[in-house]
Amino acid sequence: MAAASIPITSLPWHHSVSLPSPTTSITVNNDRYFSNHPTILLIKQCSNSKQLKQIHAQMLRNGLFSDPFSASTLVSAFSMSSFQGVDYAHKLFDQIPKPNIYTWNVLIRAYSSSQVPVQSLLIFTRMLYRCDQVLPNKFTYPFVIKAAAELLDMRVGEVLHGMAVKMSLGSDVFILNSLIHFYASCGCLDSAYRVFLNIPVRDVVSWNTIITGFAQGDRPDEAIELFREMQTSLKPDKVTMMSVLTACTKKLDLEIGRWVHSNIERNGIGGSLNLNNALLDMYTKCGSLEDAKKLFNKMPEKDIVSWTTMIVGYAKSGNYITARKHFDTMPNQDIAAWNALISAYEQNGNPKEALAIFNELQVSNEPKPDAVTFVSTLSACAQVGAIYMGGWIHGYIKKHGVKLSCHLITSLIDMYSKCGDLNKALEVFYSVDDKDVFIWSAMVAGLAMHGHGRDAIDLFKKMQEVNVKPNAVTFTNLLCACSHTGLVEEGRDFFKKMQPVYGVVPGVKHYACMVDMLGRAGHLDEAIELIKAMPMPPLASVWGALLGACKLHGNVEVAEQASSHLLELEPWNHGAYVLMSNIYAKSGKWDKVAMLRKRMKYIGLKKEPGCSSIEVDASFHEFVVGDNTHPQSKRIYAKLNEISEKLKSMGYEPNRSQVLQCVEEEDMQEQALHLHSEKLAIAFGLISLKQAQPIRIMKNLRVCGDCHNVAKLISKLYNKEIFLRDRYRFHHFKAGDCSCKDYW
Ligand code: ZN
Ligand code: ZN
Repeated sequence: MAAASIPITSLPWHHSVSLPSPTTSITVNNDRYFSNHPTILLIKQCSNSKQLKQIHAQMLRNGLFSDPFSASTLVSAFSMSSFQGVDYAHKLFDQIPKPNIYTWNVLIRAYSSSQVPVQSLLIFTRMLYRCDQVLPNKFTYPFVIKAAAELLDMRVGEVLHGMAVKMSLGSDVFILNSLIHFYASCGCLDSAYRVFLNIPVRDVVSWNTIITGFAQGDRPDEAIELFREMQTSLKPDKVTMMSVLTACTKKLDLEIGRWVHSNIERNGIGGSLNLNNALLDMYTKCGSLEDAKKLFNKMPEKDIVSWTTMIVGYAKSGNYITARKHFDTMPNQDIAAWNALISAYEQNGNPKEALAIFNELQVSNEPKPDAVTFVSTLSACAQVGAIYMGGWIHGYIKKHGVKLSCHLITSLIDMYSKCGDLNKALEVFYSVDDKDVFIWSAMVAGLAMHGHGRDAIDLFKKMQEVNVKPNAVTFTNLLCACSHTGLVEEGRDFFKKMQPVYGVVPGVKHYACMVDMLGRAGHLDEAIELIKAMPMPPLASVWGALLGACKLHGNVEVAEQASSHLLELEPWNHGAYVLMSNIYAKSGKWDKVAMLRKRMKYIGLKKEPGCSSIEVDASFHEFVVGDNTHPQSKRIYAKLNEISEKLKSMGYEPNRSQVLQCVEEEDMQEQALHLHSEKLAIAFGLISLKQAQPIRIMKNLRVCGDCHNVAKLISKLYNKEIFLRDRYRFHHFKAGDCSCKDYW
């Protein structure tokens, strides 16, 4: 090549090697005079930014940098490098006096997949501003459109679409593919589909993009339909199959999943690790552990994802023993495997086992727990109320300098709140400077749970002052706070402002909170009107809230409607039957009570036994109604008798009518009422804890009126603080009063 003989050093500093005019630049770079120059060839061999910077220095010395192609190659190398060289590339770019279209495109492309895709658009506008030099071409549009997709900026994307059409690029398949991706990312699947239909000759990417769009956009049926259609004209590839599997997993349709699996084998594209993992995920989620196991055993290569998918699959189906066996046979039990096991137990209703595994990890001393381990374990602590273990983890985090991410702080606040130590939760909350919306929301929830509705609202206001935008979770917690404290005016006001002021669309949870709040406060009509006005079908939680309100206000007619809706959605909801039979009992309709009991017996509904647990010196003690299995049983009953005598001398009489009003415990005998599990736990707490230690009890059902009264009296009589977490909220008994102010 003639260019190679040009002496580089003799090139002037700001020369212009025949700058291509806009008309000739609408292709890729064509001024490659120095493409075989040794320095340029060297660029391609660089493996780190230090080497690239050395070459940059060399190019400045020998003048090569002022050649557009050579400079572009360097910009390109920096921007494509894995070592975050985009900003450096940008600086280089700014030094090139008249960059060619190739260089512009390189930078636009690099930014479109960086952390700051907006830069891509800014450079594009700069390019338009200098349209006397270059014009965007068909290589520019796919990447600016990608940037618009990253930013979910509908308007910008539409403008770009229009510009491309005006530049007669409207039938370019790369641009059209990027438009499908853009519209699908913004949630406009119909627009994406229209673009797809208008592509004259569709390639595999066109099909993959539209199928992925539908699969990820919660329209799995259309994704699968398109996949069938695609096969009449084109052979699918791995990407297609990954998307179709996502669709199957969303549909939870095992049959179609199996069909896709056979399709993969028929097309000879199986065998890759990613695809096999996606198949495993599909099989475990669609409920066929058999298929998953068969595939797993056949897989030539397995990674941590394959193993953990199986563990989670077994745990989800309640097969904990196999989950554990699977874990034990893993070749390499790194921390990710432990985390999978812990979170599998924690998220599938077995938090105690999750804690046991965490203990085992501690004892084994290797590997070391990480932030993910702590988040799962703290959540398990919150579920069982294990405040000692939770506090120990907090100490460990501090001692070992584990980085406190927002996620971890949220978990700590949640754990302390749910374990009954609101002050500790507040302490953690105020110790952090940079709080994200989840941290704020967790603290609002903590205050709500403990009946501090006003404080929760104040905190919400503070959150606004520091410009943290509330989200759907914040509002659920805030409305819950209003509901628990009976702040109806405030609750109505927040609910009304949610969408117009804060841009949060009320979801079904928010409606359930509102129905609960209005119902409790006796505004049954308003609650019913709200349900009628719901834009989505009401879920069981909404009817449950209405039913609970009817129980409180003795409205049989509305209760019957609410319970029939509730049982339609959840035929096995034991609580609904008990609530309804209590409502009948309260209004003297004994025939209906008998009828309900008969029906419960007929369909084989068993009541969940009331169970209370208390943590003493880091170990758990559980009690059920009338329990006498505890090793200290004798002392516990002696204490109960003592309490009973003292209470009688204070003029207390067990409230027999409470038996009928028990929300979830339907025992009809005074004896049973006397021996509700929380009373046993309180008695045990009194004999085994030091005077200064509060009693913290977790109960699986709602506390009954009699136990609530007794707890209040005990807190005064024995000068003892009692925290009782029932299924719905916290009761903090102190000096004869409860934090719920008898509103629960
Ligand atoms: Zn009770
Ligand atoms: Zn209370």
